[in-house]
Amino acid sequence: MDNQIEEVKKRIDIVDFIGGFITLKKSGRNYKALCPFHQEKSPSFIVSPDRQIWHCFGACSEGGDVIKFLMKWENITFYEALKELAKKTGIILNQINFQDKTWQKKERFINMNNLASEFFSYILFNQKYGQKAMDYLKSRQIKISTIKSFNLGYAPNSWDSLRNFLRKKKFTDEEMFENGLVIKSEKENYYDRFRGRLIFPIKDSRGFIIGFSGRILDNSTKEAKYVNSPETPVYHKRETLYGINLTKESIKKENNVFLVEGEFDVISPYQYGFTNFVAIKGTALTTEQLLLLKRYTEKITLMLDMDEAGIESTKRAIEEAERLEFDLRIVSLSSGKDPDEAVRSDIKIFKKEISKPVPVYDFLIDIARKRYPEETSSDKKKIADMILPFIEKISNPIVKSYYVKKISNILNVDEESINKMLRIINKKEKYKESNKIKFKKTTKSNRELIIEKYFLSYLFQKENPFLFAEEIFKIISPNDFSQISFQKILNLFLKYKQEKREFVLNEFINYLSFELKSVFDELYLFSSIENDLDQENINKLVLEIRRNSIKRKIKEIIIKEDNQENKLILINLNRQLKELEKNIL
Ligand code: ATP
Ligand code: MN
Repeated sequence: MDNQIEEVKKRIDIVDFIGGFITLKKSGRNYKALCPFHQEKSPSFIVSPDRQIWHCFGACSEGGDVIKFLMKWENITFYEALKELAKKTGIILNQINFQDKTWQKKERFINMNNLASEFFSYILFNQKYGQKAMDYLKSRQIKISTIKSFNLGYAPNSWDSLRNFLRKKKFTDEEMFENGLVIKSEKENYYDRFRGRLIFPIKDSRGFIIGFSGRILDNSTKEAKYVNSPETPVYHKRETLYGINLTKESIKKENNVFLVEGEFDVISPYQYGFTNFVAIKGTALTTEQLLLLKRYTEKITLMLDMDEAGIESTKRAIEEAERLEFDLRIVSLSSGKDPDEAVRSDIKIFKKEISKPVPVYDFLIDIARKRYPEETSSDKKKIADMILPFIEKISNPIVKSYYVKKISNILNVDEESINKMLRIINKKEKYKESNKIKFKKTTKSNRELIIEKYFLSYLFQKENPFLFAEEIFKIISPNDFSQISFQKILNLFLKYKQEKREFVLNEFINYLSFELKSVFDELYLFSSIENDLDQENINKLVLEIRRNSIKRKIKEIIIKEDNQENKLILINLNRQLKELEKNIL
């Protein structure tokens, strides 16, 4: 069977095949296109004829072979895609005994979640110990129809009721553990994660149950109010928005989404007809979540708690959302209640308030004034420092000058001095930018990883990687890379280099383990989404990689014991760092 899959793949050229669906443009050794699986303005979808693979470096960050492409395109399973491709190439498949392991596991875990959800819901509706959860929901004015829409349930207060139920359905303890439904004790005993809790199944945008959240019924207990599934093969917190499966159509229709914090802040508004709410479940908004929303809307209205953590998370959200070109607004409910309480206490006021969002800049100004309320020059400077970097980025001149005026009034200085400060900020930003080699989709925090990927991609796409390596590995070594997988790939590359005279891509691939192969494939395509860099800039990158590596080492040493030996190491590392930085700037 494996041979047959290879045979099918061999008979189809990936560039021809994908080119039949979307327009591909040649770019170096590879081909580029706008990714068909998400909305984007600049191409981050790459196809490699050498490796016969594709990869999206944008929102999907997924890739694979022709089969995987067809699976995604048609939204079909591995078998179906394989069958279709085999038919096209005239190959008759043997009896199917092939197993698509990852896909099968995911499907099995989602089935497990479905059964668990049915179990929880059965307890809530039919069992006497579900009654107190039902009473609790009633006390929060949740209707039966709403309970059903969100598939709420109740996990009985027992150590093993779900586990026993799932065992009868032929799931093993290890599977339940990996799927986050049971916990393993120190003595290797398994027990239910969700006990005595109201259960909220967490679904992805297609409605598959990927995890669960559970709330205690009695606020007076010491236990955590909410317990959530851990990261599992199917649940990835960073990508999840609670309620998206039910609300996505409405979000699209309204071209607006209300982002709230908790499960009930989605459920209650939904019950009263506000059907475009999703929750980030009390954590910071991630890029992954924003990219998911980008499929449905250009407008986001934040309705987050304005405690200290909420403010910080909002500030970050503003920067990120601006980068992704969302139109971002903020609603803060005047009552100080959260959306769940507010909609229940007065739906008319709620409706009025959410229809009058404030632009983010006014919101920031309010926050800054509350934080620095004194009429002193030092507080005024702090207000300016906090707000002006945001104002500086406003592209519409009318809007910008409106805020310049507003701030000059608040700070009681003339507009010209505000403008002057904005110019200084602008200059500083430009200077910082001009000294750096630019990459798409880079934030400060992922630049380290991106330059490493770029460098590796560049190396392997070189006409003669061996020759290039001669020079470069005088300056850096595999250990300078932050990812173990990159180090491994480079070490194998150097080994390969010692054994062979010439670099042959598809021969080198065989040196890599299965896991490393997929890392390599992604790397190999990576540089195609970026502009070409010349030799001088590549050298700069190499120095930057080396510098990051030294910085990481310094950090490691700093937290170690403060003895003479470590001191000397630190001094030495600092010296190396200074030397390098001289060469970089
Ligand atoms: P409720 O209305 O049920 O009291 P809330 O949404 O008002 O909940 P918050 O304390 O504001 O509660 O928390 C916001 C969200 O953060 C919750 O809905 C939940 O998703 C998540 N959360 C709260 N407490 C925890 C916890 N201890 N562990 C994990 N997540 C939590
Ligand atoms: Mn609440």
